[in-house]
Amino acid sequence: MDEISLEVSKRRDRGRVADYIPALARVDPSQFGLAVFTTDGQLFSSGDAHVAFSIQSISKVFSLTMALGSIGDSLWRRVGREPSGNSFNSIVLLEHEKGIPRNPFINPGALVVTDVLLSSLAPRETIGEILQFMRVLSGSEQILVDPGVASAEKATGFRNIAHANFLKSCGNLLSPPEHVLGVYFHQCAIAMDCTQLARAGGFLAAAGRNPTTGLSVVSAEKARCINSLMMTCGHYDGSGDFAFRVGLPSKSGVGGGILAVVPGVASVVAWSPGLNTQGNSALGIAALEMLARRMNWSVF
Ligand code: GLU
Repeated sequence: MDEISLEVSKRRDRGRVADYIPALARVDPSQFGLAVFTTDGQLFSSGDAHVAFSIQSISKVFSLTMALGSIGDSLWRRVGREPSGNSFNSIVLLEHEKGIPRNPFINPGALVVTDVLLSSLAPRETIGEILQFMRVLSGSEQILVDPGVASAEKATGFRNIAHANFLKSCGNLLSPPEHVLGVYFHQCAIAMDCTQLARAGGFLAAAGRNPTTGLSVVSAEKARCINSLMMTCGHYDGSGDFAFRVGLPSKSGVGGGILAVVPGVASVVAWSPGLNTQGNSALGIAALEMLARRMNWSVF
């Protein structure tokens, strides 16, 4: 891992830091962190693995886990399971498909998932539940929402607002759009470091059980379903290329993090803020490609 950190830190092709909100635009692009958490509970880290970053769309994996735990397979009546081939915030497909988002990892799909979480709780309590879930999974009480990121997401989230209103018009949101958006912006604004996020994702590598506590988070069957969606839809319109290069279920976020799963072996987080043109961490992908190759971790 140290060799990979050293190697990627020399690279010039670092991509561009997300600049749609100031809190992300000012993140130092020279940072790189890597963490591996094995299913037998060992944690390895390298580089800036203890620097917190905005998890953004990686939160969608955890909100999906909670929604599946709450309503099970009936979720699939409201969200599809196909890759979109479009960017994370593309609007075109949604009208064609009559308000049923292609998958839970594009923004409209994630909004429907968040709506499920809101069905029995108020917005503030729902945010609290998501945060508590992340704290329990990672074994870290310090995890917080970055309020500056959350309010900036709200101030600039016009496409998400459009998605939520469109979903509502199609009858695929039960709560008021502003409640769903409020929770969604806060879940995206959760800040975690590579080690915390690798621990939190451990259950996906360990057939649904948290490797630290041994407790079941979801059934092995559901963990398999979530992994399959991460493999096919986890990097938006870069999902095929990621499967080709790395070959692991994983989910990216515009904060530059990537959570990858090596089934039965480990969860891995790579973070570097510079993004490629599809909005995925350029060095994160490069590092995971090297790690998967050296460890022979591709599932293919
Ligand atoms: N907060 C971002 C949005 O919803 C998340 C996008 C991402 O991480 O891909 O626009």
